[in-house]
Amino acid sequence: MSHLRPARPSGRLWLTAWALACGLAAPAWAAAHCPNAQPLQATAPGVWVWEGQAADIAPQNRGHVVSNVVLIAPAGLGAAPTVTVVDPGPSLLHGQALAQAVRCQWGTGVSRVLNSHAHAENVLGNSAFASSPSDLHPANLWATEDTRQAMAQRCPGCLEHITQTAGADALRGTHIVLPTHTLAPGQTLRLTDRPWMALELRDAHTHSDLALWQADTRVLIAAGLVYRDRLPELAQGTVQGWIAALDQLTALRPRTVIGQSVGGIDTLHATRQYLCELTQAVWSAMDRGWSASEAESLALPAYAHWAGYAQRQGFNAQRAWRELEPWWIEGRKPPACSGPDVGR
Ligand SMILES: [Zn+2]
Repeated sequence: MSHLRPARPSGRLWLTAWALACGLAAPAWAAAHCPNAQPLQATAPGVWVWEGQAADIAPQNRGHVVSNVVLIAPAGLGAAPTVTVVDPGPSLLHGQALAQAVRCQWGTGVSRVLNSHAHAENVLGNSAFASSPSDLHPANLWATEDTRQAMAQRCPGCLEHITQTAGADALRGTHIVLPTHTLAPGQTLRLTDRPWMALELRDAHTHSDLALWQADTRVLIAAGLVYRDRLPELAQGTVQGWIAALDQLTALRPRTVIGQSVGGIDTLHATRQYLCELTQAVWSAMDRGWSASEAESLALPAYAHWAGYAQRQGFNAQRAWRELEPWWIEGRKPPACSGPDVGR
């Protein structure tokens, strides 16, 4: 979608334009920082992405595996746009790199940060946007009430864990900053030049997952609900709630879906397909007389090439087993997995 990327004047011309917009100190700052700034991917009108990757958190990626989304709402003539970030990433340093990319591209700071759900790789970058002595204009930090509560509860342990998995150097200086503003489900937000709807999906990937929907351009920001070539994480979610959430999002018929990466409606389908096959495999194992302790060995070889398979498949199977066993004991039918037409 590079055709949507506006041409950026290069070199001295661009630095001069930036300087005019930002004042006398700008040229030196831009010359020092902008040549190496992270390029953001133009994805839809007013929507830019630092894309995630199909990998688990490791020192090699410094914890950057999920997408960071930058939304640009234009202001009046000569005024700086309002910039919103959805998920600032895993660390202070990553958040600072994102803030630098924004300042280099639009000559302004970030006004709002939205946290999609309470996972470390999505939210610990908040610490780059909170109030500090050197930041005259800290961003407002938003999340659903349940995500804020989950962050308060889980983030200390998550910070410790991601420091171990991504490395202490990558997490240097990172501290926990909780959202200060509450997002209400159904709330309309003007995040670009158009209105966006805030959707809260319950008990899906986590207890509360935020998605953002722009109906005119059919752009869906689905954050942790959509994976690509990486095994979904069920640790804080439910397999049936997640499938239901994906059906709800599929019914919107999005053209562009921003999850772990940027794609189309097929990315919703791929995540759903894994969750359905997991459900069916667990149900079949119960029918065959397996015990709960054997669920850990339940394989889905078709997904063995996905990142995180070796680490999580056994855990996901156990998690799904605990969720589905009461249904099976009651003699109910397995949860339906046909769902809406997703254009397969
Ligand atoms: Zn997540």
